[in-house]
Amino acid sequence: MIADGACLWNAEGCVDPVRNMIYVDYRYDVLATFMHECLHILLGESYSAGQAKEEEREVRRLECLIMRNLSPMQAKRIHVEMATLLCNDANDVDQDDD
Ligand SMILES: [Zn+2]
Repeated sequence: MIADGACLWNAEGCVDPVRNMIYVDYRYDVLATFMHECLHILLGESYSAGQAKEEEREVRRLECLIMRNLSPMQAKRIHVEMATLLCNDANDVDQDDD
């Protein structure tokens, strides 16, 4: 989930469909970026390659809607889940370094 910079050139987050991963640049708003990338996965098949601007506009609209309506408890739970994923990811990296 933490990007090594390979797919985040000039982006806060991205989806790697080949590796089935979402990458989030931790220097930005992690929660909103994570929501944004999840929405790309959910809506991606609804748009053709030529509709990238329309898809981005809809993803941003829904991201704002979700972030405005997220309860404190929902935000807390998502942060906990993301932290768990980050810890698992960090453990994988540690094992790769051995
Ligand atoms: Zn986007």
